Amino acid sequence: MIVNSKKMLEKAKKEKYAVAQFNINNLEWTRYILEKCNEMKVPVILGVSEGAIKYMGGYDVVVSLVQSLVKDLEIDIDVCIHLDHGSSVDVCKAAIDAGFTSVMIDASRNELQKNIEITKEVVDYAHDRNITVEAEVGHIDGNSASSSSREFNATLGDCEEIVKNTGIDSLAPALGSVHGLYKGDPDLDFDTMQSVSETLDIPLVLHGGSGIGDADIKKAISCGICKININTELQTAWHDAVVKFVVDNKDVYDPRKVISSGKDAIYKMIESKINLFYNK
Ligand code: 13P
Repeated sequence: MIVNSKKMLEKAKKEKYAVAQFNINNLEWTRYILEKCNEMKVPVILGVSEGAIKYMGGYDVVVSLVQSLVKDLEIDIDVCIHLDHGSSVDVCKAAIDAGFTSVMIDASRNELQKNIEITKEVVDYAHDRNITVEAEVGHIDGNSASSSSREFNATLGDCEEIVKNTGIDSLAPALGSVHGLYKGDPDLDFDTMQSVSETLDIPLVLHGGSGIGDADIKKAISCGICKININTELQTAWHDAVVKFVVDNKDVYDPRKVISSGKDAIYKMIESKINLFYNK
């Protein structure tokens, strides 16, 4: 069933595991993620960036693709269609109007009060339509800046302010993770993570989940993280497998064979992340 993220994240928080957000890029990835999570009987959040939406053709394409795959493949788990890093109120509204069941508004480059103002506008629109909202506080950077800068980290005070003044459903505090491949070792601020989680009754989200070691992932979950976003590690796993296939099979030109040569690598990566996130 296609649902918002409310119940799945509340359950994860209560039972101390993390729901996976896997980012999608095309038909094949969406299919592989749905199939594997269905086989493992875990709910999944399909993260869709604005870039991926554009690449796939638009908001409606994404929604109808997911709906059709769920129907035709008889997917029997809860599936959330989530806008990842929505850059404006208008983008969030467009995603909601098209049928996304959850949105992230990322106004984290603004001062806190402006971030709160923008986020609140999205929450008002979304909650009238039973759509969940994630927001970011502090700022989670890309890997080009630094692998472990605490310069833009969230504080407990910032987290309290944004939660209290917006009514968001989940919060992504910047606590040392970065998107993409880490340049050095990740340096997560577990103390703040723990105090935010103990102070605020809200599911916490870890962005930049790729490249964080298993021990740190487990520690983050024990400190209150109940949603973890993975994009880059699916991409690198797929890429490595496809490069090998193409080098070994230079005369194969059927795109179905080329693209799907990365299928098992994606299945394997998903399986290992789910086992880790659910302490299996
Ligand atoms: P990675 O690409 O580092 O896995 O991060 C994904 C993410 O946080 C998407 O919002």
